[in-house]
Amino acid sequence: MLYGGIEAGGTKFVCAVGDGNGQIFERVQFPTTTPKETMKQVSEFFSQFNLRAIGIGSFGPCDVNSESATYGYITSTPKLSWRGYPIVKKLEESFNIPIGFSTDVNAAALGEVTFGAARGLDSCLYITVGTGIGAGAVLGGKLLQGLSHPEMGHITVRRHPKDTYPGICPYHKDCLEGLAAGPAIKERWGKPGIELVNSSEVWEMESYYLAQALVHYILILSPKKIILGGGIMKQKQLFPLIYRDVKKLLNKYIELPQLSEEIERYIISPGLGDLAGITGALLLGRKAYETQPEKQK
Ligand code: ZN
Repeated sequence: MLYGGIEAGGTKFVCAVGDGNGQIFERVQFPTTTPKETMKQVSEFFSQFNLRAIGIGSFGPCDVNSESATYGYITSTPKLSWRGYPIVKKLEESFNIPIGFSTDVNAAALGEVTFGAARGLDSCLYITVGTGIGAGAVLGGKLLQGLSHPEMGHITVRRHPKDTYPGICPYHKDCLEGLAAGPAIKERWGKPGIELVNSSEVWEMESYYLAQALVHYILILSPKKIILGGGIMKQKQLFPLIYRDVKKLLNKYIELPQLSEEIERYIISPGLGDLAGITGALLLGRKAYETQPEKQK
């Protein structure tokens, strides 16, 4: 059986065809331009295959509430041509097959818990730290969605005493994303993170913020594994700092080996590397097929 997956990002769309068991047979990517142009390429790619369903892991904010009138719409994105775009409806009209839909980070969490670093567990949190910060989670085997999808990148964090940078989030200025995403690092220090590998103050400050966020997520969601992906997390020197700071902030309040001597196995890189999101999107497709059999052709 063949499923389609779309990892819909603000800069690029990755489309893949796979078997829903972790195998990807074909994968392509297009730049995210206008819905008309990008979706034409998506349709052309998928129309070569006889797909059972398509899953989408989308950039957000988007409407993931299946009972809402605007379910499957991209909502308040800064990418204006995509604002209000009904991506699920458009694909349903084109292909007449079930369409699964969630956020890109929820898809990545699903990919990791099923085939990646959290395989065998029923819960994990996936965080991406890149041009933005976002997190998705699977808890008790289910994607974390409620009123909407979580927006864990926009939480408030305590400021580093030496940080005078105002923050870059257009909505909140100095939320976590505003202080710790790639563009904030670049603007604060005058260079992108990749050119600052040996500047310890950069990564000390980055860890100061990320560790606070992780502690909040641990205290609120209690995930069984935390996976840190995205471009900034390719800076491996961040991991030991994060371990140290998470332990310091928790201060042995939760006495579990995962949060002390085993923390290096608790907070880890994605097992699927850069394929976590697209693998999860294919799984969203498989789920849509399995739960909406009445729509099968
Ligand atoms: Zn924000």
